[in-house]
Amino acid sequence: MKDQYDVLIVGGGMVGAALGCSLGGSRLRVAVLEDALPLTFAPDQPHDLRVSAISIASASVLKTVGAWSGVTSRRFCPFRRMRVWEAAGDVEFRSEDINEPALGYIVENRVIQLAVLDRLRDFANVDLLCPARAREIEYSAEGSKVELDDGRILKGRLLVAADGGYSRVRHAAGIGVSGWDYEQQALVLTVETAYGQQDITWQRFTPAGPQAFLPLDGPHGSLVWYNTPSEVKRLKSLSDDVLRRELLDSFPAILGEIKRITARASFPLKRQHALNYVKEGVALIGDAAHMIHPLAGQGVNIGILDAAALAQTLIGAERNRQNIGSLKVLQGYERMRRRNNLLMMTTVDLFYQVFGNAHPPLKLVRNLGLGVAERLKPAKRIVMRYAMGVGDWLPKLARGEALIG
Ligand SMILES: Cc1cc2nc3c(=O)[nH]c(=O)nc-3n(C[C@H](O)[C@H](O)[C@H](O)COP(=O)(O)OP(=O)(O)OC[C@H]3O[C@@H](n4cnc5c(N)ncnc54)[C@H](O)[C@@H]3O)c2cc1C
Repeated sequence: MKDQYDVLIVGGGMVGAALGCSLGGSRLRVAVLEDALPLTFAPDQPHDLRVSAISIASASVLKTVGAWSGVTSRRFCPFRRMRVWEAAGDVEFRSEDINEPALGYIVENRVIQLAVLDRLRDFANVDLLCPARAREIEYSAEGSKVELDDGRILKGRLLVAADGGYSRVRHAAGIGVSGWDYEQQALVLTVETAYGQQDITWQRFTPAGPQAFLPLDGPHGSLVWYNTPSEVKRLKSLSDDVLRRELLDSFPAILGEIKRITARASFPLKRQHALNYVKEGVALIGDAAHMIHPLAGQGVNIGILDAAALAQTLIGAERNRQNIGSLKVLQGYERMRRRNNLLMMTTVDLFYQVFGNAHPPLKLVRNLGLGVAERLKPAKRIVMRYAMGVGDWLPKLARGEALIG
């Protein structure tokens, strides 16, 4: 029964591969299918455009499953301060306020993916099939079938959708979504600044959209400029030199001088939430379950928590000799994650609405909000602990508790 698995994970991106690692060493036979083999890492490579702010909770999951050293041995940047402001209000969060060495880490997506894929290869119960594309997906409550591009057919008692926002697994299982387009795009730029190593990430809200800086190692950084699709198109078409001058004119002075722009791309933004995360024989995780506005840097973080929660549910069920594909078992995972994710998505949307609006009453609300957040230290600490991912509500792996042994 070589091609028969307990858990068949379609998608070995950051989230699907993190689930594979979280199930590593268990008694479940697991396969992770990933279409695109990421480019090998070399320290002298220029920084990738796609980077993520990784929370303490996500780093803790990756540490507990043995994948974090694959990040730290490659390239990453801890940040200890986070500043958020708009015309009249300002709040700064510092890692010492929550007694943590860092508020989080900025890491290239490819570095995270390579770290989790490398770790997967250590587990005897996990097969990594990469590159392998799931061409046909036949969902069934009793066990699903996936046909690969090379004609191989794999079967799984539980099918997991970790294949991103446009998930074919979700579609094959007939799970619908709700959501909308934000009618805004994110222009992402990798730059070399005039400063040395920075430890601050900042975001300024303007009526046209937020502008953000994420530090990378050394003088490098990632800029995000949210704007209308037509303005992003115009900016993207400018020469490096003209775009550099537009950045200096439009971004806050804290940015300093930009020496070089080394990469740029834009991303359409969309909110999307699956109506259910589970059905008999199938579970959705990561962007397959939810797409969230990136302004708070939470997408992959809530995805990694999904992976940790699903692994906890499945390993617990297997230990209790329950059927891992049963709706009853899978609903345990959905209860752990769907409400929390909805809360995070709604909070981010509230921020987006309140801060992206020039209406006088909303201006008052946000100025009051930032002022209160800065002065009310206990409230500020609670918000920080939640956003950074520190607390008892987290799945075990995110609290540093191993699931095996
Ligand atoms: C501009 C921008 C900035 C962002 N910044 C942050 C941030 O700072 N922090 C944060 O937490 N999140 C951030 N996000 C969100 C984050 O990038 C996503 O949430 C994250 O990439 C989702 O990971 P995933 O593994 O669920 O899906 P994906 O990254 O989409 O991975 C899906 C994987 O499945 C594979 N796949 C798909 N179909 C098949 C198939 N048929 N067969 C085999 N394999 C398949 C793909 O090759 C891919 O590797 C940002 C998003 C954007 C757009």
